[in-house]
Amino acid sequence: MALLEVKHLKKNYTNRFGGNQTEALIDVNFSIEEGEYVAIMGESGSGKTTLLNLLASFDKPTAGDIILNGLSFRSIPERNLAAYRRENLGFVFQDFNLLDTLSLRDNIYLPLVLSGEKTEVMKRRIEPLVKLLRITDILDKFPYEVSGGQKQRAAIARALITEPKMILADEPTGALDSRASDQLLGLFEKVNTAGQTILMVTHSTKAASHADRVLFIKDGAVYHELYRGSLSHEE
Ligand code: ADP
Ligand code: ADP
Repeated sequence: MALLEVKHLKKNYTNRFGGNQTEALIDVNFSIEEGEYVAIMGESGSGKTTLLNLLASFDKPTAGDIILNGLSFRSIPERNLAAYRRENLGFVFQDFNLLDTLSLRDNIYLPLVLSGEKTEVMKRRIEPLVKLLRITDILDKFPYEVSGGQKQRAAIARALITEPKMILADEPTGALDSRASDQLLGLFEKVNTAGQTILMVTHSTKAASHADRVLFIKDGAVYHELYRGSLSHEE
């Protein structure tokens, strides 16, 4: 069974004043196996954000279905969606989304605090993560005191601490210089090798070349797919 199945996904946005509709996604189909590292590439306006928002269940499809970890989104009652999302998905955003009023440690703890986890569990989980990400020594600092690469690593720790089935990353290298980008891509490879499933949206061919598989999206549909090893021919 695939970890994620996307079936005939369609999303229309209705113009605020009625009438005109934008067909953001027309008929998107793909699936992701547990342990895979998949990148989605496409130009601005191709539907990447729409797709991520549907996968994160921040928004509802016009038609089609998303099946995550064996459960169709359509079968999950609205009131349970946030909890289901928290249990299954970890998010890494381009702009890090860290809270400036909290230390890096408390930012990383936040999803567990929200789900009511015990302090012992939080302490047990944070240790190996921050060691892997090499941010142990800066956990008491605040986001505005550290570099972009360090912020992004804290954001990855925050995404991983819930032990999600899948990481959804939206342009994770978008705000990083090339050295920090390389480090981040190295870390994604490391956690993926350890078994973490990753779905990453990116503009960067370099970032995408680290994935096992790249899906190309254009005008609201996946029009091409490449496996690792064949990427170098496309550049
Ligand atoms: P990408 O992330 O690849 O840039 P988007 O998913 O943001 O693409 O956009 C896909 C299409 O849907 C575009 O034509 C965009 O203008 C349109 N769109 C996105 N969000 C909305 C919205 N909230 N209301 C109306 N149209 C939207
Ligand atoms: P909760 O499950 O605690 O209610 P949410 O489901 O609202 O929290 O958010 C989960 C994560 O996704 C948070 O990190 C939040 O910042 C982010 N998020 C929430 N809504 C959106 C959105 N529309 N676009 C991008 N990120 C979002």
